[in-house]
Amino acid sequence: MRGQPMFILAEDTERTRGRDAQSSNIAAGKAVSNAVRTTLGPRGMDKMLVSDAGDVVITNDGATILEEMDIEHPAAQMIVEVATMQEEEVGDGTTTASVLAGELLAKAEDLLEDDVHPTAIVEGYNEAVRLALEAIDEQVLDEELDDELLQKVAKTSMTGKGTGDVGAGPLAETVVAAIRQVQTDEKVERDNIRVRTQVGSSSSATELVTGVISEEEPVHENMPRRVEDASIAVLDLDLEVREGGIDAEYNITSIDQLNEALEAEEGELRGYAEALKEAGVDVAFVTGDIDDRVASFLANNDILAFESVDDDEAQSIARATGAKQVGTVKDLDSADFGHADTVRVEKFGDDELAFIEGGAEAEAVTVFARGGTEHVADELERALNDALDVVTAALDKGGVVPGAGATEIAIADHIRDHAASITGRKQLAVEAFADAVDILPRTLAANAGMDPIDALVELRSTFEGEGRAGVIAVGQTGQVADPVEHGVIDPAAVKREAIQSATEAATMIVRIDDVIASN
Ligand code: ADP
Ligand code: MG
Repeated sequence: MRGQPMFILAEDTERTRGRDAQSSNIAAGKAVSNAVRTTLGPRGMDKMLVSDAGDVVITNDGATILEEMDIEHPAAQMIVEVATMQEEEVGDGTTTASVLAGELLAKAEDLLEDDVHPTAIVEGYNEAVRLALEAIDEQVLDEELDDELLQKVAKTSMTGKGTGDVGAGPLAETVVAAIRQVQTDEKVERDNIRVRTQVGSSSSATELVTGVISEEEPVHENMPRRVEDASIAVLDLDLEVREGGIDAEYNITSIDQLNEALEAEEGELRGYAEALKEAGVDVAFVTGDIDDRVASFLANNDILAFESVDDDEAQSIARATGAKQVGTVKDLDSADFGHADTVRVEKFGDDELAFIEGGAEAEAVTVFARGGTEHVADELERALNDALDVVTAALDKGGVVPGAGATEIAIADHIRDHAASITGRKQLAVEAFADAVDILPRTLAANAGMDPIDALVELRSTFEGEGRAGVIAVGQTGQVADPVEHGVIDPAAVKREAIQSATEAATMIVRIDDVIASN
């Protein structure tokens, strides 16, 4: 083996090392973050995303934009993950987190050019995160989280999003009312709130339904459309002739045999309906298919039934009504049934929806949102889900802080104050982190039509004087003012998570100095 080169990688492996690897990763990460920058804040613009298949999504939501974009570069993909993580953890602040991650990368690149070692950058950034979290804690408002304050939080998360013609105000009221319905002493049962959108009306028709809404239509037109005090079965099965069963293997040679076979089938199908009837089911939600003949047996017996109910929906119905999901109609036990005050079917344009209200078990509620068109309804659904998440985060994860960039101004200031006491090159990284955080108020200002540098100067001096300064959008421009006075308030958890997830991704990318890609 001596003197022979040893190959451990396949021949077509592409390899980039050192600064080249860093630069290309950083450039990719920055590019992704730049792509969502213009959507930040109440004056952020929307993006229209068109898929290969021609599907169109119009949105202002950072996570949605990044998900819909077909991003392949692995480092860029990590920024997408920042947004996804942010969405999962707190439900809002996805643009904030990805813009910050991009800026942390940009600052890291400058540091690398000045020969600051990646390890020093990582350490400095982590130190800065600790300081930032301190600053966020200091910014948490010392006010009771009453409906009024929570509505402001909901509203802040919805401004700039497409909320149709109703505006964020009334929607925020609905959101907070929904949260109050599912709040227990310990926590908000966020999973008990669903958002259901229906096209065909203006968004001002959005309402809170104390129950679950199912998208499915009754399987037979002669079924009852309203059932009071309903016993509900949630079934995970098909009510059809079992395929491949003995019945299907008849070798039919005469009319009698054919009739016999058909009768056997009928018998099996009627058996399903009878089993439900005998067990005392009033309404059945079936995740599988229901044979037309079973449907008409059920209709004859005044049982309301739905088929192809999606799994999520079936679970919600089960949870709300106290039903157990059952996989067979043999030995149906009324103990497995759920109960609801009413199940009613309503017509909306061409669609029918089933409302299951007054469930016996959980306080399930549905925010029933209406939108003029599919695009409006979709964006409204995202906005409502974000708003529900932020109110939950405010209540369950440590309160609220001033929005509009004010908390970021305080974070940068706190970090700079403490940077001086940090020794070595790490200090440069800590300072760079503070500069990176400035990108958020700067971008809000730029998107509001202000000069970002002038705005930053004014924000800092107002902060020095009054302790709080954000970019408030007024008319066609923005002004520096106290966000709390203007009702612009974010959950503290959104800021904490954004700082942490952005730093995690940026430091991970900075640490990489060797990219080995197998083709
Ligand atoms: P993200 O995906 O990060 O939530 P958004 O586009 O929702 O991005 O923008 C969030 C930022 O906009 C937050 O800093 C928030 O405080 C700020 N913001 C929201 N409403 C207003 C408002 N009316 N005036 C000023 N800033 C606002
Ligand atoms: Mg937001």
